[in-house]
Amino acid sequence: MNVLVINTGSSSLKYQLIDMANESVLAKGVCDRIGLEHSFLKHSKVGNDPVVIEKDLYNHKVAIQEVIAALTNENYGVIKSMSEISAVGHRIVHGGEKFKESMVIDDDVMKVINECVELAPLHNPSNITGIEACKHIMPDVPMVAVFDTAFHQTMPRYAYIYALPYEIYEKYKLRKYGFHGTSHKYVAERAAKMLGKPIESLKLITCHLGNGASICAVKYGKSVETSMGFTPLQGLCMGTRSGTIDPAVITFLMDKEKMTVKDVSDFLNKKSGVLGISGVSSDFRDIEEAANNGDDRAKLALDIFCYRVKRFIGDYAAVMNGVDAVVFTAGIGENNPYVRREILTDMDFFGIKIDEEKNKVRGKEMDISTPDATVRTLVIPTNEELEIARETVKLVKLK
Ligand code: AMP
Repeated sequence: MNVLVINTGSSSLKYQLIDMANESVLAKGVCDRIGLEHSFLKHSKVGNDPVVIEKDLYNHKVAIQEVIAALTNENYGVIKSMSEISAVGHRIVHGGEKFKESMVIDDDVMKVINECVELAPLHNPSNITGIEACKHIMPDVPMVAVFDTAFHQTMPRYAYIYALPYEIYEKYKLRKYGFHGTSHKYVAERAAKMLGKPIESLKLITCHLGNGASICAVKYGKSVETSMGFTPLQGLCMGTRSGTIDPAVITFLMDKEKMTVKDVSDFLNKKSGVLGISGVSSDFRDIEEAANNGDDRAKLALDIFCYRVKRFIGDYAAVMNGVDAVVFTAGIGENNPYVRREILTDMDFFGIKIDEEKNKVRGKEMDISTPDATVRTLVIPTNEELEIARETVKLVKLK
């Protein structure tokens, strides 16, 4: 059974074709600059060099057509015809309160995904465009929606309700939702496998540290708390996002800097985080290099990022009354020994101790704890596409 996994952005569309018989990726790629000049598709048959196909991808429908053409191409394709695609799994950013798990896409599901546009105006519309493009080109292929928010729907009410007048929650469904759920779920399940214990017996803190970053307390296999909120702006300091700040900063800035609503939103989402602090870059490789060359603000940005992650780990250990393992994933979590060390230094009172040699690992599964650590520290590369494909197979088989 081959599953096509689709992740649609406003002007991009990433895809992977996965053979679920052995969970191996056959081909993957990205359509970029959809609807803009100089659009192209970059396609790789696994094991081969990527090919770049310059095409006028004037909308997502055309992009999907080109993806199918690449997958079935006689030189760099991996299947003979579209009929070898058994199902499509779509990454959908927001499923609101209605979707507590992945769903087979039908008219009712589409209606709710549309209703959730209000909650994720930047993401759900392009996700919907991706589904509609696939439906048009592959009308008989079953499709599944896998939501970034669904894994966190197990949070208790006292964790997700903001201390605002309750009517605002009732009126707008304004509450904490959390994101990166597919990644937190995937690495939590891998962690249980690595530890050789059932997930139902484990208390895990999963740290998804990429350009967007969030932490999750996974108690006995369920998300009970997470750092992102109503939007992916809450929580940790990130590449360009401020994370949690005193809400009064917003009215202060509007008053003093004469900022509009859009100005403030751009300021907090695009100009803040480690980029804003360092003035160097949003990319941790650049910031680390600058810090190593004596740039004080770059060092400060790293310190602030690591300090906040440390605080959340303490917070979530309290929430769960203990922790069996801390898991690092995503670009920074998987590849940045400096950040992992800074976060975990002086946490030995918790039972967290890491082995400096093992902590050099990049992009590979590894237990980096010392033998005497009572809390394990694991590095686990995330694989959201595989998790989406697994969910797709689970649901399509149920039909
Ligand atoms: P993500 O959003 O998960 O792609 O993560 C982006 C962040 O991960 C950037 O700040 C990069 O500095 C960092 N990153 C990604 N890949 C690597 C790598 N191979 N080595 C070091 N850092 C990396």
